[in-house]
This record gives sequence, structure tokens and C-alpha cells, in this order.
Amino acid sequence: MSQKQYPWYVAGLHFQCIECGNCCSGPEEGYIWTTDEEVKMIAEKLEMKVDEFRNKYIANKGSRQTIIEEPKSKDCIFLCDRNGTRGCSVYDVRPNQCRTWPFWDMNLESPDDWNFAGRNCPGINNGRLYTYDEIEQRRTQKKWW
Ligand code: SF4
Ligand code: SF4
Repeated sequence: MSQKQYPWYVAGLHFQCIECGNCCSGPEEGYIWTTDEEVKMIAEKLEMKVDEFRNKYIANKGSRQTIIEEPKSKDCIFLCDRNGTRGCSVYDVRPNQCRTWPFWDMNLESPDDWNFAGRNCPGINNGRLYTYDEIEQRRTQKKWW
């Protein structure tokens, strides 16, 4: 009988967001992938019609759709300043991609990948311990609603 192989983070990982906004900002261009359901929920929060919201805030990239960024800074269009911290103006309906950071496959491939992500995210390796099960729940989550 073969034994289950556990990944390197089986003992858990520390992470605590300090709301610096780095993961939502430039200077590099990024993609904030969203689903149709998420588009509808964000439009509803902003009290906009879905078509109007799409025209203003969504760009199509191949078969996928992303929230647009400020043209110069490359910050997500929904990143806002909040008394010294930088937050999300649509936080309670933010896309799954934003909810599951930093527990993405690309960051969890190895300790080096995790620490590399930590160079731009001061929350990584700090604060509360996420258990293996909590990490796996976030890593594999496709829907939050
Ligand atoms: S970069 Fe990390 S600490 Fe900063 S807002 Fe994003 S998740 Fe939070
Ligand atoms: S939607 Fe909110 S959490 Fe996601 S990248 Fe934009 S500002 Fe950040």
C-alpha cells in the first residue's frame, strides 16, 4: 500500500495581510481574473447594470476577463487608500483570485517560490499559522459564493 505524499508545507504556513496593497498594485501589469458570476456581484455592489460595469471595468483577454488597471500605475482600478493602508473598494465581493492569495499553486510549488512571493508581500511568513487543510482549501477553491 502506497503512503500519501504530503507537500513541503504540511506543517502549515504563516500569513497575515497588513493591507499594504502591493498585491493589487503595479508597477508591472497584472491580471485580475473574474468570472461572470463575480462580474454580476461587483456590478450589483456598485449599483451598476452589468453591461455598463463591463464596459467600464472589464477587459477581455482571449476567453478570459480581467478587471482593468489604472493606465499609468497599473494598480487595480478598485484599489483605494484608507487612512494609511491600501484596501479594496469591493472587498466583500472581490474575485476568487484575490481571496486565495497567497495560497496559489505557483507560490506553493517550493519553499523558494513561497519566499520569492514574500519579497513583494510582507504578510508572507508573518502572523497567523494556516494549517495544511486551510492552505489546501484556499489553493483549490474555485468559487467562494
Ligand atoms: S501584498 Fe500581502 S500584505 Fe500586502 S495587501 Fe497583499 S496580501 Fe496583504
Ligand atoms: S479587486 Fe480588490 S483585492 Fe482584487 S486586485 Fe483589485 S483591489 Fe485588490
